[in-house]
Amino acid sequence: MELYVHIPFCAQKCKYCDFCSFQTSKEQIDSYIIQLKKELLQWASFCKDRMISTVFIGGGTPSFIEAWYIEMICQMIRERFVLKSNAEITIEANPGTVSLSKLKSYKKAGINRISFGLQSTRKEELEYLGRIHTYDQFLQSFEMARKAGFENINVDLMSAIPKQNVHTYEETLRKIAKLRPEHISAYSLIIEEGTPFYEDKHLMEYLPSEEEEVLMYQMTGKILKEYGYQKYEISNYAREGYDCQHNLGYWSQISYLGVGLGASSYLGGKRFDRTKHMEEYLKIQDFSKEYEQAKELSVHEEMEEFMFLGLRKTKGISVKKFYQCFGKKIEDVYGTVIEKAIKDGLMKRDGQWLSLTEAGVLVSNQVLCEFLLDV
Ligand code: SF4
Repeated sequence: MELYVHIPFCAQKCKYCDFCSFQTSKEQIDSYIIQLKKELLQWASFCKDRMISTVFIGGGTPSFIEAWYIEMICQMIRERFVLKSNAEITIEANPGTVSLSKLKSYKKAGINRISFGLQSTRKEELEYLGRIHTYDQFLQSFEMARKAGFENINVDLMSAIPKQNVHTYEETLRKIAKLRPEHISAYSLIIEEGTPFYEDKHLMEYLPSEEEEVLMYQMTGKILKEYGYQKYEISNYAREGYDCQHNLGYWSQISYLGVGLGASSYLGGKRFDRTKHMEEYLKIQDFSKEYEQAKELSVHEEMEEFMFLGLRKTKGISVKKFYQCFGKKIEDVYGTVIEKAIKDGLMKRDGQWLSLTEAGVLVSNQVLCEFLLDV
């Protein structure tokens, strides 16, 4: 089982962000951490027979709050949950919100992977996104993380952002690859409803065209390969041995418990979400209520998720595993869809593995929709 802990606080809300995150006060952080500890304690007794293989402290910006809160959370997880001895423990951090002593304290608390939200190395692109940091601050943070002893660092990058073109994106990719972080995530910007970007009437003037967006995606794999990174998921690249175990577990339908405001869980065959309203969250007494009220996923829903999540991975899905999970041959459920996708050059089969082709990845949403089953 995997554990996700949500810290919803940020120094400032970015203009494209629709995550559960916001600015806050010292009092709110205190109340939140007290409630988070209460939630962790309740789940610890519920999960006492399960081994935690990975922990991900995400947000928001977990590095925005003082380090001792994080130390306390890590200590509680170690003491109350059954944690695998070599568990991958990640924290998300933003440049400009870390110091050497903060990073050292994370290391001491057992955190062994750090994920920096950089997005771009260019000032005008960062500014348009509403990010608070500069590239120099990122470089300092990265160097400090190495100094603190982190040997597994991810850097988040973003393509198709306003004021970006293929050349500036290539510059960002190369600069970061030369730094040799162990892992790079490179997502395309999605304009989400309810964000300032969604309302920005001038945004279209600054966005790269669809053709450029495709080019950027193709460039990512090609350039990162030159520097020794292998793509293992639609948007994730790693040096050998550094695929993110937490994300791989998620795409392989391993159970996970999400703790904190707005966190999602997949436990005992059920999916459920915690409230996104702070006031409601702070009043919760019984944290297992949503779990008890949630319905188990139907076999069809489990099959759909098996395909949706599994096909995100470069390796794809194992037809053998499909049979083991559902007692049915994949051909008997999805034969026609798979045959057509292979014929159209969108999927390929290699022994027991079925995966998207490069052409399939570019229209992945369309391909994956075909795996919805009529109930
Ligand atoms: S730092 Fe991340 S979570 Fe916080 S507002 Fe920006 S994009 Fe959202």
